[in-house]
Amino acid sequence: MSELPYSYDAPVSQALFDRASAVTPGGVNSPVRAFRAVGGTPRFMVSGTGPYLTDADGREYVDLVCSWGPMILGHSHPEVIAAVQEAVSKGTSFGTPGEGEVALAEEMVARVEPLEQVRLVSSGTEATMSAIRLARGFTRRTKVIKFAGCYHGHVDSLLAAAGSGVATFALPDTPGVTGAQAGDTIVLPYNDLEAVHEAFHRHPGEIACVITEASPGNMGVVPPLPGFNQGLKDACTQNGALYVSDEVMTGFRTSRSGWYGIDGVRPDLMTFGKVMGGGFPAAAFGGRADVMAHLAPAGPVYQAGTLSGNPVATAAGLAQLRLLDDAAYVKIDAVSGQIQSLVSEALGKEGVAHTVQNASNMFSVFFTDRPVRSYEDAKAQESFRFTAFFHSLLENGVYLPPSSFESWFVSTSHDEQAVQRIADALPAAARAAAEATAA
Ligand SMILES: *Cc1c(COP(=O)(O)O)cnc(C)c1O
Repeated sequence: MSELPYSYDAPVSQALFDRASAVTPGGVNSPVRAFRAVGGTPRFMVSGTGPYLTDADGREYVDLVCSWGPMILGHSHPEVIAAVQEAVSKGTSFGTPGEGEVALAEEMVARVEPLEQVRLVSSGTEATMSAIRLARGFTRRTKVIKFAGCYHGHVDSLLAAAGSGVATFALPDTPGVTGAQAGDTIVLPYNDLEAVHEAFHRHPGEIACVITEASPGNMGVVPPLPGFNQGLKDACTQNGALYVSDEVMTGFRTSRSGWYGIDGVRPDLMTFGKVMGGGFPAAAFGGRADVMAHLAPAGPVYQAGTLSGNPVATAAGLAQLRLLDDAAYVKIDAVSGQIQSLVSEALGKEGVAHTVQNASNMFSVFFTDRPVRSYEDAKAQESFRFTAFFHSLLENGVYLPPSSFESWFVSTSHDEQAVQRIADALPAAARAAAEATAA
C-alpha cells in the first residue's frame, strides 16, 4: 500500500495496516490518518502518556497532534481517567437524562457568555449539522454562507468548498452530495468581507446564516484578520441572518472560553467538540436562548441522539474542563510559543522559506514566505518540503499531523523534556526540508 522509503521501520504498524485495509476502506476510520498526503505507513498507536505516544512497534513519539486537539491535558491524565473509571463503574448508558450532562452544560454556559443554552451531541459534525438546521428553521430561510478552507465536519451541505470567485453557487466536493444539497451553500473566500456583503446583496431575505470557523485551523492555522468576525456578525445582524461560530476546534482550546474569549464577537449560535469531550465522543451546539427554544421538544426543529450526553463522555469532558483554569492556558500558550520559535529558527538556519502562524496556542507551519490569509494562499505553499520535514521528525520521534493543512496541538503535559526532544530532532528535519525537491 505504502511507498517504500518510509515503511521499512514500522513492520508491526504495516502488518496492522494491511489487516485494516482488508476490512476497512483505505485501512482507516478517518481519511487523514492514512498518511496519503505524506506517504508511508500510518503508525498504529497503542498507548499514550502525557505528551508521548507509543506505537505498535514500540517506538515513542512526542505527540504534536493530541488527537487533533482534544488531549489538551496530555494523554492518560490521572484525574480524567479517574472520573471516567468512576462513571463507568455505574453503567455506561441509560437513555435517560442524568446529572453529568447537566453539570457539563452548566460548566460550558458559565465559561462562554453568549452560550445561554446548549444541546449535547456526539460529534462536531452532528453539532454543525444541527446548528444549520436550527438556523434554517428559526429564520425560515434556506441559504448558508461558508468559507473556502473552513471545515465543519462531513455535513453534506458543508462539503461544498469548491467554487471560485465571489458568491458562486458551490458544486459538491464529493460524490454522494447532490447538487440540491450543495446548491443552497454559498462558498466565499476567507477573510473577504466584501464578498460577504455582495452575497447578502444578491440574495436578499434568503440567507439563514453565515458559518465560519471562529479561527480556522483546518487549512492550517489562518486567523481572521482584525475586524473580520465582527464584520460577519454585523452583516448577519443587518440582514436578519444568524452568525454561527464553529468552535469545535478552538473551543476551550484557545482560551478558557475559546475564541470568543479572544475576539469577543458574540455569535447567535456556536458549536463545540474536541476538548469538551476529554477524548470521548461529546460535542455540542448552543447560543441564544430564543433561538435554542425552537429545538425539540421545546420547539418544532427536530434533533435527537441515542448516546447524546453519554455519562462516561460527559464525565471525561467535565473533568477535563475543570482542570483547564487560567494557569493551564498560560502554560500551553508558553510551550506552544517555544515550539513555534524552535521550528522557525531551525528552518531559518537552513534557509527554508516558511511562515509560522498561530491562533493562541494553535499553530502551523506553511512552507512559503508569504502570510497565509485564505485557502488559496495555503495551497500556494511548497507542500513537498513538509513531506520531507514530517518524515524526518517521525523518524526521530516527533509526531506531526500528517498534512501541511492542519494545526499542530500541544498540551499542559508538554514539558521541558518533550520540548528538548523536539529541539534535538529539528535540525535534521529542517535540512531534509531544504533538500527536498518537488516530485
Ligand atoms: C473537527 C472539526 C469538526 C468536526 O468534528 P468531528 O467530531 O470530527 O465530527 C467541525 N468543525 C471544526 C472546526 C472542526 O475542527
